[in-house]
Amino acid sequence: MVDRQIAARGVRNERVLNAMRTVPREEFVAGRMREFAYEDSPLPIEEGQTISQPYIVAVMAEALDLRPTDRVLEVGAGSGYAACVLSRIAAEVFAIERWEQLAQLAQERADRLGYDNVRVLCGDGTRGWAEHAPFDAIAVAAGGPEVPQSLLEQLAIGGRLVIPVGKDARTQELLHIRRTGEHAFDRKSLGAVRFVPLIGSEGWLADGTPAPTRRAAPQVAAARATRTDVSQVVRESCEPFDDLEFADLAPLLDRIGDSRVVLIGEASHGTREFYRMRARITQALIEQRGFDVVAIEGDWPDTETVDRYVRGRSGPDLRSMAYSRFPTWMWRNRTTREFVDWLKEHNDAIAEPAAKVSMHGLDLYSLDNSIGAVLAYLDEVDPVAARAAQVRYSCFSPWETDPAVYGRAAVSGRLPSCEAHVVATLKDLLQRRLDYIERIAKDGERFFDAEQNARVVRDAEHYYRTMYYGAADSWNLRDQHMFETLQMVLAHRGPESRAIVWAHNSHVGDARATEMSARGELNIGQLVRESYGDRCYVIGFGTDHGTVAAASNWNEPLEFKTVRPSHERSYERVCLDSGRPAFLLPLRTPHRDDLRDVLAEPRLERAIGVIYRPETELLSHYFQAVLPMQFDEYVWFEETNAIEPIEAHEVQGVPETYPFGV
Ligand code: SAM
Repeated sequence: MVDRQIAARGVRNERVLNAMRTVPREEFVAGRMREFAYEDSPLPIEEGQTISQPYIVAVMAEALDLRPTDRVLEVGAGSGYAACVLSRIAAEVFAIERWEQLAQLAQERADRLGYDNVRVLCGDGTRGWAEHAPFDAIAVAAGGPEVPQSLLEQLAIGGRLVIPVGKDARTQELLHIRRTGEHAFDRKSLGAVRFVPLIGSEGWLADGTPAPTRRAAPQVAAARATRTDVSQVVRESCEPFDDLEFADLAPLLDRIGDSRVVLIGEASHGTREFYRMRARITQALIEQRGFDVVAIEGDWPDTETVDRYVRGRSGPDLRSMAYSRFPTWMWRNRTTREFVDWLKEHNDAIAEPAAKVSMHGLDLYSLDNSIGAVLAYLDEVDPVAARAAQVRYSCFSPWETDPAVYGRAAVSGRLPSCEAHVVATLKDLLQRRLDYIERIAKDGERFFDAEQNARVVRDAEHYYRTMYYGAADSWNLRDQHMFETLQMVLAHRGPESRAIVWAHNSHVGDARATEMSARGELNIGQLVRESYGDRCYVIGFGTDHGTVAAASNWNEPLEFKTVRPSHERSYERVCLDSGRPAFLLPLRTPHRDDLRDVLAEPRLERAIGVIYRPETELLSHYFQAVLPMQFDEYVWFEETNAIEPIEAHEVQGVPETYPFGV
């Protein structure tokens, strides 16, 4: 549980991970629930309450940043599990639970397990435990309407408080508050969560209404503009359109100006309007502004076949059909195909090969195909080197098609790592660059393709090992790879080249403006901004409701799902309330001066990837962001429709080289 569900999702603090390894969770649930004790989910306990999800316990414990000498207050002891975990990291834990039976059971469990630094009290935890205050850290395991004033007062200076707070009793934002002075508190969000309600004199009343605020806490109350005000400002700042096919893009092109890189996002991997608008903007940039590179969140070798098609180049076949790996619909869809066909026509009218627009894949999930491509190239230019590379790459067999298994085996030490082999192959290739390019007369493109594939193999090998160390590390490696690939492509296409990047909002929107940053994650949007400053332009997308093409789980079939109306605390709701069904919203140079200010308060934002789980939407798909820092422009569609995957009959009779053949 700890390695796969907690460390793998980004919890790094070794003392927290060790505590989670030592405290036996099955001792804290009733007999019939024990077999589920190591599932990463909350479980029912007595009095209709829950034992928290282990991952959340770990996230909260990590956020408290505990030292061995710390004294900790936990509000909402429940089963006593989290209190016992905290007791392994800190000096003393004082836990309060409002149900007598739960408080008693929690104390009994701690005593039985020999955790003698845990004390449980039955009472109203919203008022803290004044007798033992101040506390170095306070964890609240139930969601309140506000931060209880008593808890702020009982926090030592320098102390940390983690608490879910939300205006409705079932959904909250996990807040991290640090007391920096007598009357000063820093506050940040750790994301959206769902806890049982915090019921008490400074929480919710039993009838579900918030208890009267004991005393205002101006230090932590951010200045809030009401939603209606914000939506009105959006309404007056946006450029509305009725039909996306006719939306006027000229003002957007002016705002993009002389940017070298334009990153265009999407709020899901399966929404037709996002794909279509992105294609329209791209076509306009190519035709009117001379952009000559389209780089997508797709695999290099697969997109290389598309590039050969649109630029009329030849080359060897892939080991498998383009984009045949899950999630196939992400690129094998009708809207992408229409764009690719348009691009081919556009390029066909250009005589000079170097002036044609190229397409490239930035991702690193193509270990198998990339190995095949490197070997095929070497077979042609240097059969001796090909044999050496084959021996080196055989290190991966039989894992090539399931590299995650390789990663696990290499990390556990059951299999030697292939790192040295993949690095050596790339190095050899680069050393013989000139030689190879001269031998394959004037085909620098083929060498560049082989080189990029050798880089993919190197980075993929690293990626699959890193996956087992933590989600943040592997995410960063992937986005770093995308950024480096983009840089290689721009360098390859020359100093005048200009690129358009297509990837999910979560890759292109600056990570520093979202909760990703708190998890230690960066992304290609951030890296591009750091390198290009004002010479890049980032466009995000959003929607309120409609349908989306997505799976329920990884590797499961495509479904057409209904997208739920947006959350009331989200940016999407702000846009919906503007009353404009579709618009472009310039954020970098807004039409109303106050737009950036009114949008600056962090709000939720929805991200649907290839998986959509409407039933746990808040937890699975919403994250905290500051929209005007994340994007330079936002494109809004109130209602959207699922992307259409390419059906077999649509491509019957096309030439074998057609990249969307089946
Ligand atoms: N940390 C617990 C564990 O590890 O089992 C899980 C806590 S459960 C999600 C939340 C608990 O908070 C419930 O047991 C609930 O009775 C308790 N609670 C709610 N309001 C409270 C209050 N004002 N004071 C103390 N406990 C409270």
